[in-house]
Amino acid sequence: MPDELRQYAVGPLQTNCYAYISAGSCLIVDPGASGAALAGALSDTGVAAIVCTHGHGDHVGGVAALKEQTGAPYLIHAADEGIARHAGEVSELGIAYDDDAPEPDGFLAEGSVIEVGSASFAVVETPGHSPGSVCLVGRGSAEGIVFTGDTLFAGSRGRTDLDGGDEALIMASLTRLKREIAPASTLLPGHGPPSTMAHELETNPYLSRIL
Ligand SMILES: [Zn+2]
Repeated sequence: MPDELRQYAVGPLQTNCYAYISAGSCLIVDPGASGAALAGALSDTGVAAIVCTHGHGDHVGGVAALKEQTGAPYLIHAADEGIARHAGEVSELGIAYDDDAPEPDGFLAEGSVIEVGSASFAVVETPGHSPGSVCLVGRGSAEGIVFTGDTLFAGSRGRTDLDGGDEALIMASLTRLKREIAPASTLLPGHGPPSTMAHELETNPYLSRIL
């Protein structure tokens, strides 16, 4: 069976939650809400891990319920753990999400590798939208897939005006992505449609500012 990607839009901001399924196991990226419904939708596969690209409520609000139902380990960068633990409180945007994230079972850091079936994902630290933002770069059967969280969107990039955001850091992170991500890669962002690195290199105004 070839690997499969499922995409769900969850919560008030219609955050993209992804499930990457390989060899009967799946990696869930950014369950921002509806954790119990996600567990039901993925009941035909084992859940290897729940990974959040950063700690904002619209990306972690469903972790607690999903973890309770699947027993899967929850992983996030240590620099965003604190934000995630308060995800259920009303945010600066006036939105309350499903739940506070639970205690992580492990931390993501530069070079961490998450295995799922015949695929794996390498963690690239991309701070700026939040201190602990990461991108997940596919290897093995997931070669060419990159989860970009709220760092890089089709035609845009994450905002830096929320607590912990940093303009210089996100530009440094985008510089890294511009240099390190293969143009043929498919980009799967935390909001909005997918893209390819080649298309973003040509058209994204934030990437074209980087020489
Ligand atoms: Zn965010």
